[in-house]
Amino acid sequence: MGQRIGIDVGGTNVKIALVSDRGKIIYSNSIPTRAEMGYEHTINSMKDAVRDLLKETKLEPKQIEGMGFGFPGQIDCQKGVVRLAPNIPGWVNVPIAEIMEKEFGIPTRVDNDVRTAALGELNYGAGVGCQNMVCITVGTGIGSGIVINGKLVRGASNAAGELGHIKLTMDGGPLCGCGDRGCLEAYASGPSIVALAEEYIKGGKSTKYRELANPEITPYIVAVAAKEGDPVARQIFKIMGEYIGMGLVNVVNLLNPEKIIIGGGVADAGDILFNPIKGTIQRRAMTIQKEAVEIVPAQLGNTAGVIGASLLITQG
Ligand SMILES: [Zn+2]
Repeated sequence: MGQRIGIDVGGTNVKIALVSDRGKIIYSNSIPTRAEMGYEHTINSMKDAVRDLLKETKLEPKQIEGMGFGFPGQIDCQKGVVRLAPNIPGWVNVPIAEIMEKEFGIPTRVDNDVRTAALGELNYGAGVGCQNMVCITVGTGIGSGIVINGKLVRGASNAAGELGHIKLTMDGGPLCGCGDRGCLEAYASGPSIVALAEEYIKGGKSTKYRELANPEITPYIVAVAAKEGDPVARQIFKIMGEYIGMGLVNVVNLLNPEKIIIGGGVADAGDILFNPIKGTIQRRAMTIQKEAVEIVPAQLGNTAGVIGASLLITQG
């Protein structure tokens, strides 16, 4: 007993894993989401993948303690319903927990994917031993999972943790996906790295990432150029890190966490991003709070989601 299934649903792929009661992945698989085929198609593929998992690990459903899903979107955790998943078209008010429980008889929970990643890091990654921490992901957007007194914070309508929409300006600023202006995410995320990189090229700068672009500039290419010492690429990551740092200054002052864990594709850039983040927090956060906080990279990489989802049944 104690083995659980964790499922991390993304816009492109769905990751499925059997996780031991010590957080070890025993079996894992990945299937395409194919959201364009409709949500029923994705559900059927996920049911097939769970059947494959049970068959290959020679387990019966009753031997599985629970199943958990992480979704990129708004989730009703109490009812187990995906209310809206902007990057997975068609998923509107889908009672995924009930559907899977009916099929397999395994107790099932659902939560937002950034929150499941936070749960994974808290239990088996960079957050082990923490009581108060914030786990942020920086990729196409910026999200966060908040843990206070050892518990996940969900808020009144399961929507807490929208760090990407902390406001950095009173008026104006770039337009954000949420409809407002001046949000952190509109200043500092994968797309803003690309936009800034293109701006510099338009301004006539010769850069390493321009040579590396194939043909498109990606955050990864800008990070490679920065690590090779390209001054423009380094400047871009410095600006990004300072914006993220500004967002985190507010988090540090408000929540007084002992750790902020940073993961996601853009965070793979490492020190070129982490140093300006740490510098900004050192300069701008309040003394007592900043002395308590440690800024660290995530440890579980892209397995944080499935590991955390598998824990929802006992820690949700
Ligand atoms: Zn916003």
